Amino acid sequence: MIDLHTHTTESDGTYTPQALMEEAARVGLDAIAITDHDTFRGHDEARPIALELGVNLVCGIELSTAWGTPKEKTVHLLGYWLEAPPTPDFREWLIALQEARRDRNARLADKLQSLGLDITLAEAESLGRNMTGRPHFARLLIRKGYTENIETAFREYLNENGKAYVDREEPFFAEAVRRIKESGGMPSLAHPVRLNKQGAEETKMLEAMVDAGLPAIEVWHSDHSPTDSLRYLKFADQHGLLQTGGSDFHGDIKPHVKLGRGAGNLRIPLPVLERLVAAAR
Ligand code: AMP
Ligand code: FE
Ligand code: FE
Ligand code: ZN
Repeated sequence: MIDLHTHTTESDGTYTPQALMEEAARVGLDAIAITDHDTFRGHDEARPIALELGVNLVCGIELSTAWGTPKEKTVHLLGYWLEAPPTPDFREWLIALQEARRDRNARLADKLQSLGLDITLAEAESLGRNMTGRPHFARLLIRKGYTENIETAFREYLNENGKAYVDREEPFFAEAVRRIKESGGMPSLAHPVRLNKQGAEETKMLEAMVDAGLPAIEVWHSDHSPTDSLRYLKFADQHGLLQTGGSDFHGDIKPHVKLGRGAGNLRIPLPVLERLVAAAR
């Protein structure tokens, strides 16, 4: 069993890289990819620990990209480096993305304050460290009693329709696909079910992504029903896409999602990774 979609404390997960590697060993995963949002720090820190524990660690990332011109929505894109580590170029590009995120966070804090809420950028950053994101703002909103839980925090304040929403500069989907490939990585569309499109609309959007150079799709994910996975598997077959899958483990903030098993709906076999590695060669 493998898990190619996980987060650590270096993005919005609650397991440190060390704790995640220990959990991977405990669960007996044949391979695990760390796919933190916009950063390799979790992966870099976990690499020597994985070696020590005998965990097969794959280098990954999850990027937020803009779909449509002008932007219609944010689409999450995974990247996997199966053969060689990402190029220095790519790491440099990530620094620019992280700066855009920090700028968004500052404006988000301002907007929350303008709504009369006592939330500062410094507090959020003390929770999120290098990769502070909306989930950290959500935790503050809950802790200070402004909202019930993560879901309501996003619905009332942080989502596209929330009161405090501010936009963030994101790379276009096609550019992110290209940059991952140029740096030796394999891009894969994350949790396609969250595109929130049905039937022919969904097919059309996925086909546009294939036209933009997308070589793989996340077929298996905690949010996917068996019918969803089957649909994406068929789409992958028909369009010659590679397949990836993972739980999207975030630790205690999403307690119903378990490493490897997802919401109980996952058991992704090792050959899925072997096919990716073979294709990357
Ligand atoms: P950011 O990258 O800072 O814009 O934050 C986006 C992250 O927030 C996503 O990757 C999810 O982990 C999380 N997120 C987005 N929407 C929700 C939601 N409705 N409930 C819980 N977490 C969410
Ligand atoms: Fe996340
Ligand atoms: Fe995601
Ligand atoms: Zn994720």
